[in-house]
Amino acid sequence: MVIALKAGISQSQAERFIGFLEKYGVTVHVSQGAAHVVLGLVGDTTGIDEESLRAHHLVDKVIRVQEPYKMANRAFHPHDTIIDILGPDQAVRHIGDGYLTVMAGPCSVETQEQIGAIATLVKKAGAGFLRGGAYKPRSSPYSFQGLGPEGLRLLLEAKKQSRIPIITELMDIQDLRFFEDVDIVQIGARNMQNFSLLKELGRCRKPVLLKRGLANTITELLMASEYIMTGGNEQVILCERGIRSFDTYTRNILDLSAIPAIKRQSHLPVIVDPSHATGLSWMVPAMTKAAIAAGADGIIVEVHNDPEHALCDGDQSITPAVFEQLMQTIRRYAEIENKCF
Ligand code: PEP
Ligand code: MN
Repeated sequence: MVIALKAGISQSQAERFIGFLEKYGVTVHVSQGAAHVVLGLVGDTTGIDEESLRAHHLVDKVIRVQEPYKMANRAFHPHDTIIDILGPDQAVRHIGDGYLTVMAGPCSVETQEQIGAIATLVKKAGAGFLRGGAYKPRSSPYSFQGLGPEGLRLLLEAKKQSRIPIITELMDIQDLRFFEDVDIVQIGARNMQNFSLLKELGRCRKPVLLKRGLANTITELLMASEYIMTGGNEQVILCERGIRSFDTYTRNILDLSAIPAIKRQSHLPVIVDPSHATGLSWMVPAMTKAAIAAGADGIIVEVHNDPEHALCDGDQSITPAVFEQLMQTIRRYAEIENKCF
């Protein structure tokens, strides 16, 4: 249930009303809009009489939310969430409504030279964030598993040298202690429903990029975000990265319709990963344009300075030269979509 309070009521009036609602055993989440305070009730609301609530002098509107997600629901939070991240260059990056965000870098951190060179190149081309995996979820135990803590150290060094904020994947909650200087924690497709991991992320105060699972519905993605948000961490960015289907021409099928669908249902930013969605570097520019045209708030893209010798996902990694060109296209698209870049 979502309750919009009347405009102009005082904080103490709102607090007393929240106390009254909590007596029914529900948890009340508060969202402060431009004019209204909106209350999201989580828990069993069957004991609450909707009619008498509507008649309450502080209440403007009562909405029964049909969807199982509350915190991520646009009904609870009508305005788009914008996440602000202060970079090591003291510039703030905004992720969400009105902005286009580009996160770029290799699938995996390989060497200091590799990540350092790519960091410099993507920053110069205008990327807002450097991506790079240190902990890698590989389908085969015989494949390169990522450099782990050493990879994270190299990525942090690249952040410092190039003064660009970083995003990297967390697979095990035990490693969160190494993530203090990581700007965005990435939760990979394979961990989208690792509920104990999601609950722990709810307790931390770092922005989380949550990738859609290989065979998960949009509702399941939103429910996964709910695990993080109900814990108190509302800085969630959703990522469409393609889903499994019958056609093997591309690595996955990029579900472009998920972008407007999520935006209709939720206030959270949506980022698209054209690299994992297609598995084909030559398709990345076309899918980037399609994603932005469909309303995405940005992209996370794999860029490698030597794709042929990449230790992971070389086939889907674009070169810095292609990335530079792509950034020019993105700039034009940002103008058309009236978004800051
Ligand atoms: C990645 O970003 O390198 C990755 C493993 O992505 P996904 O979880 O979407 O497969
Ligand atoms: Mn990858």
